[in-house]
Amino acid sequence: MALVLAIANQKGGVGKTTTAVNLAASLAVSERRVLLVDLDPQGNATSGVGVARDRSDQRSLYHALLGEAPARSAIRATDVERLSLLPSDPDLVGVELELVAAGDRETRLRRALEPVRGDYDFVLIDCPPSLGLLTLNALVAADRVLVPLQCEYYALEGLGSLLRTIELVRGSFNRDLALEGVVLTMFDARNNLAKQVMVDVQTNLPGQVYATIIPRNVRLSEAPSHGRPALLYDIESKGAQSYLALAGELLERRQAAAGPEERQRARP
Ligand code: ATP
Ligand code: MG
Repeated sequence: MALVLAIANQKGGVGKTTTAVNLAASLAVSERRVLLVDLDPQGNATSGVGVARDRSDQRSLYHALLGEAPARSAIRATDVERLSLLPSDPDLVGVELELVAAGDRETRLRRALEPVRGDYDFVLIDCPPSLGLLTLNALVAADRVLVPLQCEYYALEGLGSLLRTIELVRGSFNRDLALEGVVLTMFDARNNLAKQVMVDVQTNLPGQVYATIIPRNVRLSEAPSHGRPALLYDIESKGAQSYLALAGELLERRQAAAGPEERQRARP
């Protein structure tokens, strides 16, 4: 059964989509079966893996959330082996209103993904920059939340409300939801403020910050316009290499976490 990871931060432009696309591709080349779910009406993850996002004949996550088509029928292959995409749709913008009277509006994504979870090792959900109904659906569907954080002055401010939202979801729809960790993105080692923010985040969230730091790298910002994850665009680039390292760290953490449980289960 796949581990479902929501990539979330209500702050805009912090590297959620870049992380979702490149971590998904890196896990896929590490021989894991990955489904990338584009929950943002902007559709940047969809175009980022080379899929057109405004074809009206194309089934999308929108149809799956509204119950008009099974998620499986909207899933598409990408140029990366083992990486599939559940594409976004500009109509996702209206989902909040369309579902306003639906009693089960918070669990739509969870239920849409249920039949396909068994086909993957990881499901990565790219969230929009808000804490609205779409992100709530991601938090209800997810096992864990990965938070990309840009090292700038206001970085920690928004983190508090995200962590409180995670607490609320844990107390209501999804009691097993856990924080996977924080990934520092667009890091510039020459910037003293960035270094200070890094230390602050590490002090405030001990053990939760990934050791792999994603540097600011122009290849990461160029790759989406070619419709490719960085590792298909320039695998030697610092950006592509750092996301491969992030995938390695994630897999190591999963293994370490599974260890004690497995031992527990093995006990008579
Ligand atoms: P939104 O909140 O709008 O969904 P986001 O959190 O998904 O934004 P991205 O789209 O991943 O953020 O990144 C914002 C911009 O910064 C994009 O133009 C992206 O190409 C660029 N970018 C992201 N990470 C890096 C990086 N490590 N180095 C250089 N540019 C980056
Ligand atoms: Mg985005």
